[in-house]
Amino acid sequence: MSQQEGARRAGSALYVNPAAPRRAGFERACADLFGSLRTADGAEQAAALLVRQPAELLVLDLDRFEIAIDLAALGRLVAQRADAPVLVLCPFTNARWLPALMAHGAIDYIVGPLAPEELRAAVAARLERGFAPPLAAGPREAELAALLAVRSAAQRALAQTDDGVGFAEGLCAALLGWPGVVHAAMFLLHPSGDIGADAGGDLRLEAQHGRGAGPAAPDLAAILGRGERLLQSPLRHAFPGLLAAATGEPALLDAPDKSGEPELAQALRAHGVQMVLGLPIPAAGPDGRRPTAGALCLMFDRTDPFSHAQLAALDDLAQLAAFGLRMAGLVRESEALLARVTQLATLDALTGVANRRHGEYLMEQEIRRARRYRLPLALIAFDIDRFRNINDAYGHPVGDVALRTVADTARALLRSSDVLVRSGGEDFQVIAPHTSAIDGLKLAEKLRVAIEAAEIPGCDHLTVSLGVAQLGERESGDSLAVRVNAALARAKRAGRNCVELAMG
Ligand code: GH3
Ligand code: MG
Repeated sequence: MSQQEGARRAGSALYVNPAAPRRAGFERACADLFGSLRTADGAEQAAALLVRQPAELLVLDLDRFEIAIDLAALGRLVAQRADAPVLVLCPFTNARWLPALMAHGAIDYIVGPLAPEELRAAVAARLERGFAPPLAAGPREAELAALLAVRSAAQRALAQTDDGVGFAEGLCAALLGWPGVVHAAMFLLHPSGDIGADAGGDLRLEAQHGRGAGPAAPDLAAILGRGERLLQSPLRHAFPGLLAAATGEPALLDAPDKSGEPELAQALRAHGVQMVLGLPIPAAGPDGRRPTAGALCLMFDRTDPFSHAQLAALDDLAQLAAFGLRMAGLVRESEALLARVTQLATLDALTGVANRRHGEYLMEQEIRRARRYRLPLALIAFDIDRFRNINDAYGHPVGDVALRTVADTARALLRSSDVLVRSGGEDFQVIAPHTSAIDGLKLAEKLRVAIEAAEIPGCDHLTVSLGVAQLGERESGDSLAVRVNAALARAKRAGRNCVELAMG
């Protein structure tokens, strides 16, 4: 077989891995590429074998090795190699090994998982081209200039940080200056709104920047199938940005197919993406529950191996991201204090939900956010049916209790990112970010059913009529409000206690 492929038979090699079946697998796949191939189950045995007889190539297969336990001994092995080549087989889910081993000496690496024939081809290719030292030599001049430019752009983004979104945007834009990067994104973990229900919190796509315009620029929310609740995404074990955020370890996918997800691989290839790197952003503050605050995710149009200096520079950028987020957090905290002071001006005194004026302000903010990330935004308007009768029959104080009960019932159903607004006497609105018309209809129906079922102290059950509208591509907040109120009026005309969708 090797003669047919024309692979040159190299000299002696030593392969190291703790699992006997894996050692046997490597021997089956690659033994005939070498003049002689020995195997060892760990650093200690490898060192002993090397003393007895040196090997021209050392192959460290990191599968099953634990970085916390084995790094020191494997690092010593690398250090002892001096100029002799070391080939590292690294699982894509744990790229932290690469800079850690590079700190001990020059290594060449192949990212796994690989099928036996792919592994054989990759090793044969390395033997063909030789284990040149460019990996140890550091970035070339032009690359160095590019990396310095990325760093100063990132620092500028930090200097201009006044909110988390602005910083995330600026940093992603800066990362596009990295050689070969066609897309940069930031994922952030948001603590869960309802305590206990979902301890992992919500991982969201916070910002993304891609090269090219329109359909040429990759849209991560589309590739991943969603932009939020990403810890629950089926791709969390396959996509490096999600993996890094979930595990706190860097992940390097240097071929889309290695993800094991054919659809994901196809989507990446369609955008010319050949390699994806996920870098965890260390958690800010004393929150020991989760290892990361999120992750940076870089997509490349090439698969050039990283040097130690590049990996160190990337790690610096992840630290910078953590610092920027902490700053943005402090800015947010001081804004929250200010918000408490202005609460009286923003909240409705009777129900405790946002008042009309504040609702309008929040609506404008959500419209801007929806545009920026191309996410859907829904508005629901609802009004209590025949409320005048309740006031007339039971008196105004009971009417007030009913209003509060309706607000509490609605609030209990909403996500933490939804906003409930008392937009008038007995009409309310729900601003629902990341929500399409269809999902808005479902939410409206849930509200209708829950309010109808709610017990109201001192009086009968009551019902509401609801209108639902999804923000159009270029639509203003005013126009959206007009459409949703027209839908609400239709619901009233249709006999009340029902939901109507606004006309486009
Ligand atoms: P429908 O909406 O189904 O057409 O009938 P409705 O009886 O609810 O009609 P309308 O919306 O015109 O009535 C609004 C009533 O809501 C008038 C007022 O008595 C009552 N209302 C408005 N604000 C408050 C409030 O703060 N407290 C109380 N108790 N009642 C209020
Ligand atoms: Mg009414």
